[in-house]
Amino acid sequence: RCKNNGRNGFSFFEAGMEVAALRRAKVEEELRQALAEDRIQAHFQPLVRLEDKTIIGYEALARWCMGDGTCREPDEFISIAEEAGLISDIFYVVLRKAAKAARTWPSELTFSVNLSPVQFNDPWLVERILQILVEEGIQPGRLDIEVTENALVGDFQIARDVLWSLKNQGIHISLDDFGTGYSSLRHLSELPFEVLKIDRSFIENLSVDTTSQTIVRTVTSMAHSLGLIVTAEGVNSVDNATAVSEFGCDIGQGFLFGRPEAVGAGRASPAANEDGPDNEYPVSDEPT
Ligand code: C2E
Ligand code: MG
Ligand code: MG
Ligand code: MG
Repeated sequence: RCKNNGRNGFSFFEAGMEVAALRRAKVEEELRQALAEDRIQAHFQPLVRLEDKTIIGYEALARWCMGDGTCREPDEFISIAEEAGLISDIFYVVLRKAAKAARTWPSELTFSVNLSPVQFNDPWLVERILQILVEEGIQPGRLDIEVTENALVGDFQIARDVLWSLKNQGIHISLDDFGTGYSSLRHLSELPFEVLKIDRSFIENLSVDTTSQTIVRTVTSMAHSLGLIVTAEGVNSVDNATAVSEFGCDIGQGFLFGRPEAVGAGRASPAANEDGPDNEYPVSDEPT
């Protein structure tokens, strides 16, 4: 019998919980303030067609920026935002900013925005997305909505209806982080995905990890048989880019081609890309 594990252990545990809850409440409050002060930004990472190394679009990634110009990354705030009911606000901010940016790009470039599973409960989701596109003067065909497999483990009927409504309006749908979630192939086949993004955990060590090689080759072949375009995430070296091309992937995304950046800030941005999308991709000179 553990006589010392009673009251003291319990109150330690409780104190720890309280600290965590207080921290969360503080982050939540700061996040609300950041939204109110327009400090949630979209950063953009290029998507590159592997065949000819052309930039075909950008993924918009949320950043929470401070007064001093530094920004917090999604791992620090997306799950808190989901629990606090702030994820929709963040999504609409990112969507609108990405749409505004896309207006300044060559019109063939697409932009991708990440949708949280929580948002399937928003009955106005489809209408509001379309409204923002109309207000910003963007054709629905330039938008790609990314959802993860785990978005489909909740209420599958709702997720399916929403994704089909978006697709029927001309918006493209991508399956993000493929290989890390719990969806069934049956479910996936009932959804209007056009792009399958292989999670970066399968790509990062591709040149040495033979299991990943088999998975990437097989998944790509299966996806192509189903008529899907395949994107490799986490392409961070020339070896990686060569490998994913050999395994048949169509599009690459990763630090090799460009890190997420504020538009106009660097070489990867279309604003700095004066000849339009036909330029060679900018190979990052940062060590990977
Ligand atoms: P994701 O949608 O899979 O986005 C790709 C993530 O991989 C980005 O991280 C990007 O910076 C990172 N990445 C890209 N290339 C490389 C590489 O070569 N190496 C490594 N190590 N990482 C690479 P980020 O921006 O930190 O975003 C993390 C996740 O947060 C995203 O993963 C997405 O699931 C979520 N997220 C980002 N923005 C939003 C948003 O507006 N709404 C929602 N609901 N989720 C978002
Ligand atoms: Mg990150
Ligand atoms: Mg994504
Ligand atoms: Mg991903």
